[in-house]
Amino acid sequence: MMQLFMPLNFLGFVYREMKGSMANIERMFGLLRRVPAINDAPDAPPLAVSRGEIEFREVSFGYGPERQILDRVSLRVRPRQKVAVVGASGAGKSTLVKLLFRFYEVGSGAVLIDGQDIREVSQASLRRAIGIVPQDTVLFNASIYDNIRYGRIDASEDEVREAIRLAHLDDFIARLPDGHHTLVGERGLKLSGGEKQRVAIARTILKRPPILVFDEATSSLDSRSERSILQAIREVSRGQTSLVIAHRLSTIVDADHILVMQDGHIVEQGSHQQLLEQDGSYAHMWWLQQRQRVQEQEA
Ligand code: ATP
Repeated sequence: MMQLFMPLNFLGFVYREMKGSMANIERMFGLLRRVPAINDAPDAPPLAVSRGEIEFREVSFGYGPERQILDRVSLRVRPRQKVAVVGASGAGKSTLVKLLFRFYEVGSGAVLIDGQDIREVSQASLRRAIGIVPQDTVLFNASIYDNIRYGRIDASEDEVREAIRLAHLDDFIARLPDGHHTLVGERGLKLSGGEKQRVAIARTILKRPPILVFDEATSSLDSRSERSILQAIREVSRGQTSLVIAHRLSTIVDADHILVMQDGHIVEQGSHQQLLEQDGSYAHMWWLQQRQRVQEQEA
């Protein structure tokens, strides 16, 4: 009986995983079913990732003909670099990520990974190469351990434990009533935004994709959660190409390059220090956020 139960249980797990994964992507991007289907080119080869370089070459895009959202955006994330994109709400940051995943086709220009136009490779291989830590992670009704193992379902117990440690979840799990057997999700324990984000980081650590995308949650976190998420992000992105959509500038001061977007254009770019010296919109956002932090601490 147990022998029969195990594979069925496993199939259920895989099914839930696939459902969860779609829900994750849909929720992350607010995708609606009317998104036009994008087909692979006939005999599209898989993406061959060697160095992990991302390039947007003069990309223009609009969701409809009436409004241009990105206007000739060019950017390059060199292998193993961390590049952050910041800017006001609606500037077009998430749109960049949707185009990188090829959920939409560019209007003109091209998105390339290691020199390959992503329109010419299979979508499955493209999405396998990119790991995403979304704003809001979907947890399914299972143990916290299985929720993490969902990053790579054939991961060994040692690998899952290591991912838990690197994602700074070990203290949290130790305090749960049944440790890592504790049920989470809609019918189990509810996790805070920061805890869920660390689950997403642990999953990504298990997946170890060559390219990483972090879509930082807009909601504010207390400074302890923020610190442990930052440390976890550093662990997972060490030596990986990563693109970070950031809302809190304090999380990206160490980025190799920061792009500031406004109304579909890149209006400033450089390191944190260079941007402060430019004294433009980045510097303005930085001082505003610093002031807010001081006010929150005093409150
Ligand atoms: P935020 O920081 O609030 O997440 P953002 O910089 O990521 O904002 P995008 O989500 O890229 O901004 O949106 C850019 C513009 O495109 C916005 O004006 C938005 O309303 C519009 N937009 C986003 N998704 C769609 C869609 N599916 N259909 C039509 N317009 C959209």
